[in-house]
Amino acid sequence: MTLPHHDHCGRTISYLRVSVTDRCNLRCVYCMPEEGVPCMRHEDILSYEEITRLVSIAADLGISQVRMTGGEPLVRKGIAHLVRSIAQVPGIKGLAMTTNGILLASLAQKLAEAGLQRINVSLDTLLPERFRAITRRGNLSDVLAGIEAAHHAGLTPVKINTVVMRGINDDEVVDFARRTLLDGWNVRFIELMPLGESATLARAEYIPTDEIRARIEEELGGLRPADLTGNGPARVWRLPGSTGTLGFISAISHHFCRDCNRLRLTADGKLVPCLFSDLEFDLRTPLRDGATEIEMQDVFRRAIDAKPAGHLLSERVTPIHEMSRMGG
Ligand code: SAM
Ligand code: SF4
Repeated sequence: MTLPHHDHCGRTISYLRVSVTDRCNLRCVYCMPEEGVPCMRHEDILSYEEITRLVSIAADLGISQVRMTGGEPLVRKGIAHLVRSIAQVPGIKGLAMTTNGILLASLAQKLAEAGLQRINVSLDTLLPERFRAITRRGNLSDVLAGIEAAHHAGLTPVKINTVVMRGINDDEVVDFARRTLLDGWNVRFIELMPLGESATLARAEYIPTDEIRARIEEELGGLRPADLTGNGPARVWRLPGSTGTLGFISAISHHFCRDCNRLRLTADGKLVPCLFSDLEFDLRTPLRDGATEIEMQDVFRRAIDAKPAGHLLSERVTPIHEMSRMGG
């Protein structure tokens, strides 16, 4: 059987982001309202066995890279068991996770032993009080301890994901960049996207990555191209003399749709071909109704075929998916 590794635009679809829960222990201002979002019903959330079966079907269709995300993946009980099961799926070569890092210090070693290879930690500020203001709960020191623990556990390269917002944390971009010089951090600056809660944040808070880059270069010198494992849509750079790297994820100002290789699976079993479209394909119902492997593969194929060529997010005024459901 010929496997559809390519979509109608010739893009190779090799990467699956798996949201393992919609729950979160933080309430970042750009992602969730203070009171949280209505939770999925427990029985609607895929079990670890169900997630593993779907990953295995995806692997048969050419998916080789999986990233676990959420909500906050580390709040789901026994998450290391899921890591272990996915790591053992034939064909899965890369297994990574995106986390807010709050619970990472105590789990990093266990995750690495279970087969997790790399981790991205979301961190928008290096100032404790500002951390509280942006996340509305949680402590910066826990995240910093989590980053340390991830390094020790070999979940490398650890990447720091920083959403930059004008007037909120944009005065820290040079401080983050300095960490690539002083501590070898790999920092990726992410443009604020008008999804979920951010759809209601003023557009004035959006700041393009070109502006962030210019500020860093003015202060610390010109950036040079670099290379980093599992680089995805970030273009990666290095300051002279730095062991760490800087990346820029510019979903709004520089579309990376042409190179998009990903599908998303929500915690309740919907397959989402594009973060910026309303399309989703139900996998949970056929899975629970006993669909055959071929029938399940067919849903994946339809999702791949439906992947839009590109998005018009910068012109869109209505919110689409909630990031906490979709996993960023
Ligand atoms: N809870 C985990 C975390 O925060 O890393 C994983 C899920 S979170 C939805 C994944 C990523 O999406 C985080 O790096 C977060 O900063 C980013 N994100 C959430 N809302 C966003 C928005 N409106 N614009 C840009 N990035 C966003
Ligand atoms: Fe939670 Fe991540 Fe959303 Fe922050 S960005 S509220 S940590 S899911």
